[in-house]
Amino acid sequence: MDILEQSISGDLKPNASSQGELLLLRRQLQEHFSTIRASVVGNCINVALVVAAFWSSWSAAFFAILLLPFFGIMGSRVQDAAKFPKAKLDAVSLTRLKRKTEIKAGLLGTWWGGLMLTLISNGATPAQQILCACFGAGMMAGGAMNFRSLEKAGIYYLTGSGLLTCIGLATVGSAAGYAAVGMGICYFATLLVSVKSISKNIATRHEREFELRESAATINMLLADFSEQGSDLLIEFAHDGRLVNPTEQLAAAAKRPVETLAGQSLFDMLDEGSERDALVDHLTNSRIIRNHSVSLVIGSEKIWWSISARPVREQDGLYRGIVTDITAQRQAEEKVSYMAHFDALTALPNRFQFNQRLEQMLREAPDNVGLMYLDLDQFKVINDTLGHSFGDMLLKGVAKRLNQSIGSDEIVARLGGDEFAVLFKTNELRTIKAVGEQIIKSLENPFRLDDHDVIVGTSIGIAVSPDHGKDASTLLRNADLALYDAKDQGRNRQAVFEAGMDEAAQLRRSLELDLRGALGKSELCLHYQPLVRIDDGETLGYEALIRWEHPERGVVMPDSFIPIAEESGMIIPIGEWVIRQAMDDLTQWPEGKTVSINLSPAQMRSPSLITTMIQGLSKTGVDPKRICIEITENVLMQDSEANLATLHKLHEIGVQIALDDFGTGYSSLNYLRSFPFDKIKIDRCFVNEIDTREDCQAIVRSVVDLATSLGMTTTAEGVEREDQVAQLRSEGCGEVQGYLFSKAVPQSELTDLRKPFESHAERLVRLEERRVEKSDAAELLPQKLRRGVMK
Ligand code: C2E
Ligand code: CA
Ligand code: CA
Repeated sequence: MDILEQSISGDLKPNASSQGELLLLRRQLQEHFSTIRASVVGNCINVALVVAAFWSSWSAAFFAILLLPFFGIMGSRVQDAAKFPKAKLDAVSLTRLKRKTEIKAGLLGTWWGGLMLTLISNGATPAQQILCACFGAGMMAGGAMNFRSLEKAGIYYLTGSGLLTCIGLATVGSAAGYAAVGMGICYFATLLVSVKSISKNIATRHEREFELRESAATINMLLADFSEQGSDLLIEFAHDGRLVNPTEQLAAAAKRPVETLAGQSLFDMLDEGSERDALVDHLTNSRIIRNHSVSLVIGSEKIWWSISARPVREQDGLYRGIVTDITAQRQAEEKVSYMAHFDALTALPNRFQFNQRLEQMLREAPDNVGLMYLDLDQFKVINDTLGHSFGDMLLKGVAKRLNQSIGSDEIVARLGGDEFAVLFKTNELRTIKAVGEQIIKSLENPFRLDDHDVIVGTSIGIAVSPDHGKDASTLLRNADLALYDAKDQGRNRQAVFEAGMDEAAQLRRSLELDLRGALGKSELCLHYQPLVRIDDGETLGYEALIRWEHPERGVVMPDSFIPIAEESGMIIPIGEWVIRQAMDDLTQWPEGKTVSINLSPAQMRSPSLITTMIQGLSKTGVDPKRICIEITENVLMQDSEANLATLHKLHEIGVQIALDDFGTGYSSLNYLRSFPFDKIKIDRCFVNEIDTREDCQAIVRSVVDLATSLGMTTTAEGVEREDQVAQLRSEGCGEVQGYLFSKAVPQSELTDLRKPFESHAERLVRLEERRVEKSDAAELLPQKLRRGVMK
């Protein structure tokens, strides 16, 4: 066989010029060698059978000589087959191997053909001739199958074996022999065509595969280039989600080494959920995937991918496509969606989400929903006077306390401004009111905002389904009406909707609208109520009490519109008007008379208060001592340091300060120590029953004692009966004010101004005389009082 090798190696030029041809050659040889074992076994069995059939006709030496080349060829072929997988795969080696295989095919075919020719033509019995014909045909077919991938080898083999076998059959000389020759030729021709066609098919199939691989490689190269340049990543995966040929870029995006990514399930990398399920469904049904968003966690970061891919190979369900990182876009979308559903300042659900939730709850349980509307008292004023940043801080604080006050089943939302709402999955009023109480309590405590203590109360309106409405809009409207009712009742209240609240709310709303134009239309005016010295009945001054002369409703009292003005912030311009008007009126009064002006807590925080005061004083030229500012305890509770500073400034200007309504609200004697008030006004509620109830007497006595010790005067408010005057005098109270002397009247009706000091003094004397007459002790009439009347 070495001789053979040498003979073909000399003139060998690789005819596999291109890579494709080389691979084809390799494929052909591979296919041929893959059947070599079966071929060798088949050959050996056939040889053994032939030897057995002709053993008696020929000598052992003949067989020995005959079998020597056969085993030589077989051995060499087995050797080739064994070496093939390890052999060098360059063009020269492969071409040489092919050539060798072709020569060996020719030799093997010729050996078989030669054997048949020898046996048939040398005295074979008819039975042996038939046997030889069968052997020849079988060997031709078997060989043809073995050499089918190598066309030339097949042709050489068939030619050698077929031609010589046919010649052998022709030597038989009978008709049957010639018929067999004819059949042999047909057989030979058919096998020849088959070998040619099969080998051609193999070549064509290979060519196609090669082209496909080439184009796939080109596409991959192009796509890799594309993915390196853009933000999109190439991805290939099987229909079961396994990643195929993961790119470096994909691995970098997944923050994993590329080798761990190959074969990894894409599904396993994604977050569980409907998006992933939909992707699995698309792949299972071999559908095209377009911009399919999925989320996954890489490291500790949640990211979003948009996957677009299409099946590229039907047989193995391979998908190819691109992945785009849409995290930034998704985050922006999520932010927009968050902003659409949540209030940016407090992070509570906003009105939109609140409405959605309410509608949903009404759908799920139409007869078991509770709704609470809340609105902060005085918020607008705090916002306007302390500034929006304080307003924001306050709202955040309120949101936090609201969240702490509600249970896990309830939803609190900010509807806008200082309006909040709570949704309940129950219509049980007891439960809802208990939460309301809790909210009121928690919001009553002051809020510490920077260096300011701010107090806001809240009013709450409640409506429940189905009693107060079955749909969202009715429930909302009725909770709103209940809220207005709660406000009308005073601060820190809650009210449940009742039929008839509608009217009250409408009245309030129309008053609010009208009030906005009242100042401009000069519908506001001041009435004055005298403050009388108890010793001698002298009118020391007057308290300015505002009235609204409404064109349709007539005179509206301050209790009906001051809360609305405070709520809406209109109290600031209205209060400034009161200051200017009271000072103007004061200029027309006799020297020595004072004017008392009421200030709302909101006005105390107004930066324009001091300016208004100073401007008024310089314009009118009145002595600041003749002005007394009346404030309530509320002013000292809220934002006390800033308010105390304002009070001190007013004092510095020379204005008097009175603590109004003392004894109501939180009533702490400590307030008396917090600022050097000039006067304390004891509230009507203690004065009312002072002539009959000892506890009221005791309270008034202790207030008067404390005030005296602190150098303050005392005024008793709401004095309506003479007995009250007597009692107040005996308790040491300095001044009185009430209907007993006069109601608040327009300036033009103030009789004291026309007849100074007379009317009340005379009246006091008359009263006292009557009392003394009654008690038969006229001499007890205080001399001082008489002197005052005589003046
Ligand atoms: P106030 O400062 O406590 O004023 C006294 C209130 O008691 C006045 O009611 C007065 O008419 C009423 N009154 C006086 N004597 C008697 C009496 O013998 N019996 C009874 N039952 N009532 C008496 P008015 O004028 O309705 O004012 C109510 C409240 O409105 C005032 O209470 C004050 O807090 C507020 N107010 C009035 N004018 C102004 C103002 O210009 N600015 C501010 N911020 N508040 C004002
Ligand atoms: Ca007052
Ligand atoms: Ca008062």
